[in-house]
Amino acid sequence: MSALDNGVQQEFDVVVVGAGFAGMYMQHRIQQRGLSVRLYEAGSGVGGTWYWNRYPGARVDIESVEYSYSFDEELQQEWSWSERYASQPELMKYCNHVADRFDLRKNMRFDTKVVSAHYDEKMRRWTIKTSKQDTVSAKYCVLATGFLSSGSVPDFNGLQDYQGNKYLTSKWPKEEVNFNGQRVAVIGTGSSAVQSIPIIAEQAKQLYVFQRTPSFSIPARNGPLDRDYEKRVKQNYRDWRKQQRDSRGGFISVNFQAMKPNPKSAIEVSVEERLEDYEMRWRSGGLCFYSSFADLFTNQEANDTLADFIREKTKARVNDPETAELLLPKDYPIMGKRLCADTNYFETYNRDNVTLVSIKDSPIEKLTMAGLQVRDHEYKVDSIIFATGFDAVTGAIKNIEICGRDGKNLQEHWEGAPRAYLGLMSSGFPNLFFLDGPCSNGALVSPMLLSEYQVEWVDKCIDDIGMAESASLEPSLVAEDEWMEHMNEVGKDSLLHLANSWYMGANIPGKPRALLSYLGGLETYRQQCQAGRENNYERFIKSI
Ligand code: NAP
Repeated sequence: MSALDNGVQQEFDVVVVGAGFAGMYMQHRIQQRGLSVRLYEAGSGVGGTWYWNRYPGARVDIESVEYSYSFDEELQQEWSWSERYASQPELMKYCNHVADRFDLRKNMRFDTKVVSAHYDEKMRRWTIKTSKQDTVSAKYCVLATGFLSSGSVPDFNGLQDYQGNKYLTSKWPKEEVNFNGQRVAVIGTGSSAVQSIPIIAEQAKQLYVFQRTPSFSIPARNGPLDRDYEKRVKQNYRDWRKQQRDSRGGFISVNFQAMKPNPKSAIEVSVEERLEDYEMRWRSGGLCFYSSFADLFTNQEANDTLADFIREKTKARVNDPETAELLLPKDYPIMGKRLCADTNYFETYNRDNVTLVSIKDSPIEKLTMAGLQVRDHEYKVDSIIFATGFDAVTGAIKNIEICGRDGKNLQEHWEGAPRAYLGLMSSGFPNLFFLDGPCSNGALVSPMLLSEYQVEWVDKCIDDIGMAESASLEPSLVAEDEWMEHMNEVGKDSLLHLANSWYMGANIPGKPRALLSYLGGLETYRQQCQAGRENNYERFIKSI
């Protein structure tokens, strides 16, 4: 349906961009308020980044009983996950169920990208244009565009010359892809590659993995969800969700001691105590090392103890010592890049049909018509899979031309580094909100809980400020400056600075290197957001 009905431009109270977890919940809240809302989504269905990332092996790496909505008690009681970590298809079922249950589809428009959003200062409204030539206007605009949604493919020489099949993990085709009998190349060894490689290896005749930087990866220990565990979770869901919200990372898991934060220093305890903690977490699997000793993120010596422990465990998973050596990360702190959670990733290199090609010292020279050229060797392959990551945190927002007050351009405002008060709003851009955006703590906390909290914060703002013609809200420049100072102060001693990761924007050539997320933890972040609108929004320029 066009937004121009009988030549009249449609007007909404709120436009939401993106039908991932954050956007869907935002739309639900707005609908509940009885306001008019339109949601635009580039994909043909709901699910956000999960809609696109349907590569073999894609699954969540936070336990599903935690990586799910908490806002509706009936929903969380009725929904039942089949595995500890849900696969992409199960996550899609869940998203579709939520869209139907809360009657969201009626206000969604799929296959439609928002290309620009301009603020009309006189009308105090946003004019939003889409890839379908629709133009609509809204009092409020909420960008729920996701922090890992804008896929990135490096500009390899000869990219267009290659005549075989090309696949991006971040934009996997809907049709089933089968690599049976094929020679396949995977470029990249981050989380997406770590999940997909073991499955592709089972199909391919020959698999070459092109690795620039090895990853630290922990066995996920996925399996069917234990029904007694599920029962216990559901009996205490409300209470337990509160504990999640009050925690540092937003995930606590009642199942395992392993998620309990260890407040001690890794180097001040005895070797025995340290190893006991690490072994317990290793047995539990997944990302629980994030809540191990308190100084792992800030003290190199402490961090080395864990890195050494994981390297030893990794060596034991790979039969060939030379291959094992190549697979060990050595030049950045553990957790400096996002930890991976795997199922048989390192063991896959024990297969006869899998070859690891280290390109650390000799990058891929070019793509040829038949494959990839590295050093003096051409690897001829039928398919190349680009598991090369995302223009994270800012990429999807920057793809939209956004102009605020006085024609101020968001890209220019963010030149050097993104700036947003509480990660929620930028000065000069009234009534524009970011969910899971830069300068909030999306990178190191459970994105589900963060976005639920942010949606509720934005929803309350919209209610407080209202729909009067004069209504507008934006953070003062001073508030934004002070938040940026605070964010940089909190993050300055973090070991994240020592790795070339998406956390720092360092995975994209030419992207300014800057810490993109707030490292203060979910509990502190929530307190800051509460304080941020105290005294009748004194940190903001407000008009109602
Ligand atoms: P990523 O972690 O950024 O990994 C990209 C990989 O591509 C890296 O190994 C990188 O090498 C390589 N690469 C990039 N440019 C290259 C080039 N020019 N030549 C050779 N190699 C190149 O991306 P990702 O694996 O898609 O994961 C991104 C994030 O998404 C994760 O950190 C995680 O937060 C999230 N994710 C989560 C799940 C889950 O929940 N289970 C699954 C997938 C992804 P360098 O390291 O040397 O740059």
